[in-house]
Amino acid sequence: MSDPTTSRRPRVAIAGLSLEASTFSPARTRIPDFHPQRGAEILASRPFWADGGALADAADWVPILQGRAIPGGPVPAEDYEALKAEILDGLRSAGHLDGMVFDIHGAMSVVGMDDAEGDLAVAIREVVGPDVIISTGMDLHGNVSWRLAHALDLLTCYRMAPHEDALDTKERAVRNLLARLALPPDQRRPLKAWIPIPILLPGEKTSTRIEPAKSLYAMVPQAEAVDGVLDAAIWIGYAWADEPRNCCVVMVTGDDEAVITAEAERIASEVWRRHEEFTFVAPAASLPESLDAAFASTARPYFISDSGDNPTAGGAGDVTWTLAELLADPRLAAPEVTALYASIPDAEAVEACIRAGVGAEVSLKVGARVDAGPSGPVQLTGTVRHITDGDPDAITEVVVQAGGLHVILTRSRKPYHLESDFVRNGLDPRTADIVFVKIGYLEPELFALAADWMLALTPGGADQDLLRLGHHRIARPTYPFDTGLLDPDLRARLVPMASTDCEKNTFLQRSAG
Ligand SMILES: [Zn+2]
Repeated sequence: MSDPTTSRRPRVAIAGLSLEASTFSPARTRIPDFHPQRGAEILASRPFWADGGALADAADWVPILQGRAIPGGPVPAEDYEALKAEILDGLRSAGHLDGMVFDIHGAMSVVGMDDAEGDLAVAIREVVGPDVIISTGMDLHGNVSWRLAHALDLLTCYRMAPHEDALDTKERAVRNLLARLALPPDQRRPLKAWIPIPILLPGEKTSTRIEPAKSLYAMVPQAEAVDGVLDAAIWIGYAWADEPRNCCVVMVTGDDEAVITAEAERIASEVWRRHEEFTFVAPAASLPESLDAAFASTARPYFISDSGDNPTAGGAGDVTWTLAELLADPRLAAPEVTALYASIPDAEAVEACIRAGVGAEVSLKVGARVDAGPSGPVQLTGTVRHITDGDPDAITEVVVQAGGLHVILTRSRKPYHLESDFVRNGLDPRTADIVFVKIGYLEPELFALAADWMLALTPGGADQDLLRLGHHRIARPTYPFDTGLLDPDLRARLVPMASTDCEKNTFLQRSAG
C-alpha cells in the first residue's frame, strides 16, 4: 500500500544563467550569447536527466530556461531583466514544486548591478517560497555572497581546475537535492556554514594540478565524508570582476552544526595558511621572454599561452597586442619555422578572406573590434591557406599564413582547447614548433600534447597581473592587493535557512553574519 504523500515523485524545476564575465572587458554578453534552452532541450543537454539517464525518472522535471554563454563581458541590464522575467514567469506558472536546480556558473556580471546571481536567487526564492529546496552546482571560479548562500539551500562547486569534474558536480548537486527531497519536509533543509577568505587569485595560480590548490581541494571530499556533512566546497572566486562579493569562500553543508562549522574552519584556515604559496601553473613571463625561451628550447611543440585576453576567462578575444608582436618578430617570419596562432575573432576579416579564396594573398586589418587593447587593429599580410565552416562557436574559421606564422581568424569568438580544433583547420599542432593559444592554463588535451609550455603575461580583460587591472570596488583588505594581513576572521557563519525575505541588500559579505 503506497502512501501518496511519500511515494509521489518530487517536482523539480530547472533554470539558470551560466556566465563568467570580466568587468574589465568592453565586450557585452547579449541574450543570444546564452544560447537559451527551453523545455526538453534543457533535459537533453545533461546526460544524467536526459532520456535514458540515471536520473531521468528520479523526479518530474520542470525545465524552464537555461542559458549558458562562453565567458565574456557583462550582460546589459535589459537583457538580464528579460531572461530573469522569463525564469520567474516560468516558475510562477509551474504549479506545485518540491525542488529546483539553479544551474549557474557564479561569476555573471550585469551592467550596473553587483552580485547578479544573488539578485536572481532572491527573486526566485520570492516566487517559489521558503519550502522549495533549491540546489546549485557552480564553477569554483564563481562567487558566493552571503545573500546567495541565504537564498539557496544546497550549494556546491567543482573540485578540479581544469574542470574535468564539471558534469560530476552538476550531477552531485542534483543528487544532493533528490536526497533531501526524500526526507520529511521539516528535515530537508541542511545547515550551511559559510566563510569568506580575503584572497582573490587568478585561476592560473589556483589549478588543482599543482600545490597548494591540489592539497587544499583534496580536503573537500575528506570533509564531505565526515558524518553530519552533506557537501563541502571551496570557491576560489573570480578575479576579473570588480565587485564587493568577489573573494574565496568555503562552505560546508550538513545536519550537524558543530561538525560543519569545524570542517569549514579547518579548510578555511588551511587555505589562508597557504595563501602566499599560490603561483602560476606554468613558468610565467613577459611575451618577449616567452618567445626567447621557446626559441632557445628544443622541446616541440612549445606552447605559449596568450593569457591576458583568454576568452575562457572573459577576455574579448580580439586584443591584437600579442599578434602584433609576433608579426613583427623576424624569427617567425622565416618559413622554416611553423608557428600556429589561435585565434582572433573578426567577422569582416573572415569575409574578406572568403572573397579572396584559398591561395590568395590578402592584406587585412584584423581584430580590436571589441577590445582595442594597447595596439588597435593589426595589419595581417599573408596567404589564405584554409577556410572551414561548422564550428558552433567560431562559425567560420580561416587560416592566413604570414611567413612561419599561421593565424586562425574566426567569425565569432572561440576558445581553442582540442587538437581537433587545429586539425579541422588543416594545422597539425604536433609537428608545429610553437603554438600560441589565447588561454590561461592549457586544457587537458593540449596540456598532454605540449612538450613545453610558458604562460605569457599579456594584456587584456583577463590580465593575469591583477594589480595592474585597477580593481577599486572589491572588499579590502584582500590579498594580493593588500599584503601582510594578519588574522582575518575565519570563523564560520551559520547562514539562516532561506526565507522569502532574504536580505536583498546584504552582499558586503565580510561584515555579514
Ligand atoms: Zn572556472
